[in-house]
Amino acid sequence: MNGIYFDHAATTPPRAEVIEAMLPYYREKWGNPSSLHSSGREATAGMDEARTQVAALLGAYPEEIVFTGSGTEADNQALVGIGIARESKGDYIITSAIEHHAILHTAEFLEKRGLKVTYLPVDASGLVDPGDVKKAIADKTILVSIMHANNEIGTIQPIEEIGAICKERGVLFHTDAVQTVGHVPINVRAMNIDLLSLSAHKLYGPKGVGALFVRKGVRIAPLIHGGGHERGRRSSTENVPGIVGLGEACRLAGADLEWEITHNSALRDRLIKGMLAKVPDSMLTGHPTQRLPNSASFCVRYIEGESMLLNLDLEGIFASSGSACTSGSLEASHVLLAIGLAHDVAHGSLRLSVGRGNTTEEVDHFLAVFPGIVEKLRAMSPISAGRPASDFAGNLDVHEHEL
Ligand code: PLP
Repeated sequence: MNGIYFDHAATTPPRAEVIEAMLPYYREKWGNPSSLHSSGREATAGMDEARTQVAALLGAYPEEIVFTGSGTEADNQALVGIGIARESKGDYIITSAIEHHAILHTAEFLEKRGLKVTYLPVDASGLVDPGDVKKAIADKTILVSIMHANNEIGTIQPIEEIGAICKERGVLFHTDAVQTVGHVPINVRAMNIDLLSLSAHKLYGPKGVGALFVRKGVRIAPLIHGGGHERGRRSSTENVPGIVGLGEACRLAGADLEWEITHNSALRDRLIKGMLAKVPDSMLTGHPTQRLPNSASFCVRYIEGESMLLNLDLEGIFASSGSACTSGSLEASHVLLAIGLAHDVAHGSLRLSVGRGNTTEEVDHFLAVFPGIVEKLRAMSPISAGRPASDFAGNLDVHEHEL
């Protein structure tokens, strides 16, 4: 891909080693893992290795890894699978207002079928208060699901603490770690996690493959019924090349984790510092320090996120906005509204997520180009026409969400 890619939270480029690891499973080792002959066993061996590699990155046992078709499926499997398996124990799930739609829409689906769901609020930086989790847990609570890091604003939740509360109260704890696996250290046992979702394409692996960690001893009902694959937890002939790619991506991520955190956070901090210094009326969204190493997210006042994206695209810079234009209607992001931003401010969101291949020069190029784009768009913007002159006096403080 030509251009400057600052959209790694959307997807990451598969690493060359990942593609190399997958190719033999298309070309030669294409047997069905359920076959008893050696061709099948060859495919099974590839999956076994991948299961070990995924488990190693999480501090889990290989048999605790269930391969799925995506992070979305892993999230659905966790909520619906536990909802069904525990229906005799209770009917109450706790989650947060800023989860990905893979969780929120699944929770709404369960609500329509009679389960109760509490959506915990977050503070202005996007943090869930563990005290709120403690207060919300009731006799009938069967599951708490709080994401590890938010995909739009990058805030990392106090997962270990929340997990400890759940453990103490005998409630299962699931975390959507799609944005964190391979990007920050994770140990499911030290972090008191019972179930965890991940997705290969967010850590330089292939699309269409994910996994759900299910701690030993946790019973979960399958979503997909059939031949009993994945120990009865997810039927269907496995996507062997994809699973092998996920395994290799996890192996590489583990080996490079420290380097990547240092590399990404230096670029992220340069973006944040540069943006706030060069673009008047811009603000950082999400937590200033407890955030993903690769994520710099902002709101830029008086312009729409989409206009910024299109103008950046013309410059060969690829970014993302929280205010995605869904089905023709401009909806402000539920995450930005949940942290207390007004609709018009939320519409000016811009997410820059860096990755392994990005350079300081690319960040500096962005910082050289972007202020001009903002100036041009503000000059054309009807919403900037009546703005008070004082608004351009300086940048907004990180926590001043009253804008
Ligand atoms: N959860 C989070 C936090 C995500 O960011 C995403 C993808 O953007 C998903 C779940 C869904 O993962 P997938 O694209 O593999 O379905």
